Amino acid sequence: MTTPVRTPAGLPGLPLLFLGDGADPASERGVDCPGELPPASDPGLVERARAAKAALGDRVFVLGHHYQRDEVIQFADVTGDSFKLARLAAARPEAPYVVFCGVHFMAESADILTADHQQVVLPDLAAGCSMADMATFEQVEECWEALEDAGIADEVVPVTYMNSSADIKAFVGRRGGVVCTSSNAKRALDWAYSRGSKVLFLPDQHLGRNTAVLEMGFSLDDCVVYNPHRPNGGLPDAALRDARMILWRGHCSVHGRFSLESVRDVRERVPGVNVLVHPECRHEVVRAADLVGSTEFIIKTLDEAPAGTSWAVGTELNLVRRLANAHPDKNVMFLDKAVCFCSTMNRIDLPHLVLSLEALARGEVENRIQVGPDTAAHARAALDRMLALP
Ligand code: SF4
Repeated sequence: MTTPVRTPAGLPGLPLLFLGDGADPASERGVDCPGELPPASDPGLVERARAAKAALGDRVFVLGHHYQRDEVIQFADVTGDSFKLARLAAARPEAPYVVFCGVHFMAESADILTADHQQVVLPDLAAGCSMADMATFEQVEECWEALEDAGIADEVVPVTYMNSSADIKAFVGRRGGVVCTSSNAKRALDWAYSRGSKVLFLPDQHLGRNTAVLEMGFSLDDCVVYNPHRPNGGLPDAALRDARMILWRGHCSVHGRFSLESVRDVRERVPGVNVLVHPECRHEVVRAADLVGSTEFIIKTLDEAPAGTSWAVGTELNLVRRLANAHPDKNVMFLDKAVCFCSTMNRIDLPHLVLSLEALARGEVENRIQVGPDTAAHARAALDRMLALP
């Protein structure tokens, strides 16, 4: 059942979405949470998840993103970043059910890449991504019109980060662009600049800027930031014409929290510490760090680090905690003093996983994520271009 979005008293016009009830059509996910959610206090939840998974056997494939809670990760058949997980699901066509413990755009990508008979489930449809929500289809269409008005649309190749809705991937696919991950952003940009003189980079300004400046030799002045909440992106046509890199004004609410202050502070507190951060962090943080790379790079770096070394890691806290536990011989700590989980990832918890698995065991598919055929085809084109990158 869907109940209307409520507006908190005293804040007219500001809709407040309560967990589990309501719809959020303005966001990339369109929230609706049907089903009987078991209480989080149920002491039998682990047993119930185990029993439902055993009953389903090979018919279900559970994907666990690196940022998920331990209580969920313990039931994952594989763990990884969003693109790796979507590809692994596609490589398991014998599993008709794919349960994606991650966020909405990840489940969409899995639906696009898996076979038609595979059904992808997101245990809580409220698990969106604030970064993906920062670029809606209508906003990106408007931006493209601004590029056309400035007379430069023909020179621009759109590139979108994996962390974007299927609508945005399809937009990019329709206009000859490509998807990228944090591991292959430079290769995607090299490809794009071989086809046009400018790139529109969606939706993470930090990954775009960090890659352009630190890996491709661009200057900060080569980049402009398009703000979708201002007319013409807040940019005069001349600025759009002069720019080589047009960055969408989006960011990750988790990685965007790390500051230069966090880096300075940890260096003062922990002599000899290595600062290792994700490229979704702000430019000044990445510049001040010792190493920067994707989630998979962070995991590999810590696996290979010598015993006794110290590491301050700037990425999501669930992952940093698991890495610290996995490497008791190394001093692994969170880069920031404040606790910072990805709150939307954390919406997938054990009760929601039990809800999904038990429904599937009864033959009911709840919270299915399905991308329409036209959107899927164009998004797939942009994903395929990424897969074909040299
Ligand atoms: S960590 Fe950031 S980019 Fe990843 S799902 Fe959460 S908000 Fe989105």
